[in-house]
Amino acid sequence: MPKPARQLSDLVGQARRYGVRDEAVLAAIGTVPRQSFVPRRLAAAAYDDGPLPIGEGQTISQPAMVAMMAEAAQLQPSDSVLEVGAGSGYGALVLRALAGRVVTIERRSGLAEKARSALAGQELGDVKVVVGDGTLGWPADAPYDAIVVTAAGPAPPPPLLQQLAPGGRLVMPVGPRHRDQFLMRYTRPAASDVGDNGGNGSPVLAEDCRAERLTAVRFVPLIGAHGFGSGR
Ligand code: SAH
Repeated sequence: MPKPARQLSDLVGQARRYGVRDEAVLAAIGTVPRQSFVPRRLAAAAYDDGPLPIGEGQTISQPAMVAMMAEAAQLQPSDSVLEVGAGSGYGALVLRALAGRVVTIERRSGLAEKARSALAGQELGDVKVVVGDGTLGWPADAPYDAIVVTAAGPAPPPPLLQQLAPGGRLVMPVGPRHRDQFLMRYTRPAASDVGDNGGNGSPVLAEDCRAERLTAVRFVPLIGAHGFGSGR
């Protein structure tokens, strides 16, 4: 008997099995048409819960992982979000379904271009896709209530902590290239917790943020000034 075709609701079930409980996040996973973000020849695998190649050695993340990161970012509908690592644009659209405004930055202009056209046809596809080194953040639209990094770096990039609003969350895989990585959440203290200087341009240091280790993960490397050196 042929295997029944998989569908969006299978991804929701998988995210639940991974422990995602936020109903808004599960609804977002159940809405974003992932097949629009994978290469046409892989469309049949779009609703398998795994990463898939999107060209240039990069991957569209596993949907359950996208869901876990979105849940970890604790988004409110009015939030402004920066995603680092646009890749296919899929994750950005999931974030957009949960927040008010999303900017996503990608260092590979070819992928950024494809992400832009994939997003253009989508409901809530009003995501700003920019090209650059996301380890420097995107100061023009800062501060952000949440920053979600979809590649693994050695440590949280200082510019990203700096661009968090008071109470903001940075969700990012941290660890060496290709192994021993953990999904981390760094929460900047709310203005009321840090006295007079909080939120007034004083440097935000990693040690001032609450750091939580969420789960073991495996991501492609974050390449840039505050990531790993150039290359794959
Ligand atoms: N969110 C994506 C996942 C893409 S994989 C999706 O849903 O499809 C991670 C992406 O991060 C890759 O496209 C890679 O090129 C990009 N990347 C790596 N280092 C980066 C950096 N410093 N700035 C911006 N993008 C980066």
